Amino acid sequence: MRKQIAAANWKMNLTIKQGEALLDAIIAQPHSLGADQQVVFAVPFPYLAMAQQKVEGKNNVFIAAQNCYSKKSGAYTGETSVEMLQSIGISVVVLGHSERREYFNESNQLLADKVNICLEYNITPIFCCGEPLDIREAGTQNEFVAKQLEESLFHLSAEQLQKVVIAYEPIWAIGTGKTATSAQAQEMHAHLRAVLAKQYGEEVAANTSILYGGSVKAGNAKEIFSQPDVDGGLVGGASLIADEFVTIINSLK
Ligand code: PEP
Repeated sequence: MRKQIAAANWKMNLTIKQGEALLDAIIAQPHSLGADQQVVFAVPFPYLAMAQQKVEGKNNVFIAAQNCYSKKSGAYTGETSVEMLQSIGISVVVLGHSERREYFNESNQLLADKVNICLEYNITPIFCCGEPLDIREAGTQNEFVAKQLEESLFHLSAEQLQKVVIAYEPIWAIGTGKTATSAQAQEMHAHLRAVLAKQYGEEVAANTSILYGGSVKAGNAKEIFSQPDVDGGLVGGASLIADEFVTIINSLK
C-alpha cells in the first residue's frame, strides 16, 4: 500500500526561533495519522538537528533535508553529504526541486547520482519533477516529465525504485497561487504511474507515492488529494502557516 504524505518545504525561510515555534504549533495539534500516512518537514540545513529532536519518537513524522550532495565526502566546500544527514537521524531528502534545477543548474544526470547516494545510505529521496509553462502551453508536458523520470530514476532496480517518492510540481504552479486543477493533477499523476508501470510493472507503479506540489493550500488540499493517483502534496508557502498546514495534513486520504 503506498503512503499518503503531507510534506512541508520551508525553502529558505524562517529564523530558528520561528521554525521551532511553527513546528511546536503543528505538532501540538492532535493528528491521528494512519499507518499509511506520513508528515514530512523539509527544513533548512541549520535547523535539521533541532527539528529532528522535536519529532524524535513521533510515529510517521519525518524531517527532511532540502538537498544533499552526490559525493560521499571530501573537498566539496559548502556541501552536505548523506552520511552527515544520516548521522543526525535524517532519513528523507528532497531532490531536484525546480528551484534547484533552475538556479543551481541541477541536471537529470546529477540528480541520478544524488538518488543513488541517498539509496545507498537508506535515505528516501522525494524526487521532484514538473514542466515549465512553455512546455505546458505546447502540450508536451507528458513527454517532458517522463524524460525526467527516465533520466534520473530508470537505472534503478524495481526494489530501489520502490524506495523513491515522486513529487509532481508543475513549475507554473509553484509559488504563483496558480494551482493545477485537480483534473490536471490527476491526469499527470495517472500518466506518471503508467510510465512507471511500463518500466517496472503494475505492482511497483501502484506502490509508488506520487505527491502533487504547486500552490496547495488548506482550501484546495482535500479536493486535490482526493484524486485517485494523488498521494498527498509537497507544500511550500502554506506550510509556513501552522493552521494551513494542519488542515493540509488532515486532508490526506
Ligand atoms: C514547493 O515549494 O515545492 C511548492 C510547491 O511551493 P508552493 O506550495 O508555495 O507553490
